[in-house]
Amino acid sequence: TNTENQLLIIFGASGDLTARKLVPALFNLYKNGHLPENFVVLGASRSNLSDEDFRRRVVLESKYLEEEIKNGTSKAIQTFSGKIFYTDLGKEYDTDYSDLAERISELNSRFQTDNNYIFYLSTPPSLYEAIAKNICEQGLASEKNGWKRLIVEKPFGYSLESARQLNDGLHEYFKESQIYRIDHYLGKETVQNLLVTRFANSIFEPLWNRNYIHHVEITNAESGGVEKRGGYYDKSGALRDMFQNHLLQIVSLVVMEPPIGADAEEIRNEKVKALKSLRIMRDDKTLRENTIRAQYVSSMIGGKKVKGYREEEGVDPESTTETYAAIKFFVDNWRWADVPFYVRTAKRMPTKVTEVVVHFKTPHHHIFKDSGMNGKDNKLVIRIQPDEGILIKFGVKVPGQGFKVERANLDFYYSSLAETRVMEAYERLLLDAMQGDATLYARADEVEAAWEFVDPILEYWKTSDSKVYGYSAGVWGPENADELIEGLGMWRNPGAN
Ligand code: NAP
Repeated sequence: TNTENQLLIIFGASGDLTARKLVPALFNLYKNGHLPENFVVLGASRSNLSDEDFRRRVVLESKYLEEEIKNGTSKAIQTFSGKIFYTDLGKEYDTDYSDLAERISELNSRFQTDNNYIFYLSTPPSLYEAIAKNICEQGLASEKNGWKRLIVEKPFGYSLESARQLNDGLHEYFKESQIYRIDHYLGKETVQNLLVTRFANSIFEPLWNRNYIHHVEITNAESGGVEKRGGYYDKSGALRDMFQNHLLQIVSLVVMEPPIGADAEEIRNEKVKALKSLRIMRDDKTLRENTIRAQYVSSMIGGKKVKGYREEEGVDPESTTETYAAIKFFVDNWRWADVPFYVRTAKRMPTKVTEVVVHFKTPHHHIFKDSGMNGKDNKLVIRIQPDEGILIKFGVKVPGQGFKVERANLDFYYSSLAETRVMEAYERLLLDAMQGDATLYARADEVEAAWEFVDPILEYWKTSDSKVYGYSAGVWGPENADELIEGLGMWRNPGAN
């Protein structure tokens, strides 16, 4: 492994994310030989736990490692658990960290982690700045000897203003090059493969522009409702929870110009440029015509009654928070002028799927016009999840007399790769941060550019001019979402082949 010795400090370590995602990801990295020789985790939060309590909680008795524990990897589990420690911060996060600093220093000497520290912020975001400040006050952000990195969990702000405040706040204590903003979508193989599809092949990029592309459609559908996250979700909504971050990240990878190299800054420079070229919608008329929001209402699925959003636990019975958002927009640059983008994200959809569909134009001069090809132009479908893969739809001649054209598929599925297992998003991202590679992390200017586009929509949605539609659980959103994409033969039925 080319990962340097290091110590990972997790703030909010008593929480769900640590047990469910972070520790299992670390265990997999350990099992597959990706952790450095000297590696230690120090959990920190307010809960009063001993090292042993914490080990039991996140490793030895963790339900998220149940399979591993059962499958006879107990030796690995034991050794791994010996790398895990815990320290209690006292009553609050905004406090003097000298005890914490002492514990860090002691572990650093004992395990020879070379003064290389990653601080992982997994608390409510309102605490991020205070934690950064207190780390810094102990001299722990200084890179005089050993590097120091800060991983920040989403959400990165709640609006443009709060995102700027958060970025500015963190920049007081850490340099941008030390900050890793995690967006687990970027940890997905298929999202990264967007870059490879476009820039490692010569058959797509020449067509990747307004001359050949008619429109681009991106769908993110979840079949579940808000589950136990009602209280959190009601303050957030689909636009903040999915669109501003994950979906605009995908948009930026579809829209961006070819970077001059695969280096983190080169790629992120192009992504920022892409986000800055999204046409910001400023007036009510444009916003009314190009954005749709809706909530799922109670309905029957498979003979069972499903609660409506407003009846969910933790949700205000008069809530106007959207569980469905569809946005049409344009990209103002040379490559994409006049090509509409349609992006939607929602809960309680018929199926769980995330995909990007590039719809190509009809051939300029179609000699087989009456052949049954109408409305069946070429499409490139990039399936992000599930059934990760790529599908190209193209016309073939139906055997027999004349020229009837039928559509056929060329497809590739990740599952057919003989290769070893696909790394989980958190594994990949943690390993990247451990190696100092920020390519798959969001930079401050990227986050702010995304908010600049989203902010006016959220502002408009606060006004009475903007309606909140309803849709039955288990259908593809409100009917009028089709008006948004009218004339184009409606949204593709995602998941269909
Ligand atoms: P969590 O369980 O709610 O919180 C983590 C820890 O933060 C808690 O165990 C708690 O530890 C501490 N904390 C401090 N002040 C708190 C307060 N006012 N309310 C609740 N907890 C408080 O959160 P999580 O699910 O682990 O997620 C951590 C971070 O990752 C959050 O910022 C979240 O937005 C983000 N995130 C989570 C997920 C996920 O799937 N869970 C996904 C994406 C992003 P002590 O009381 O012991 O100090």
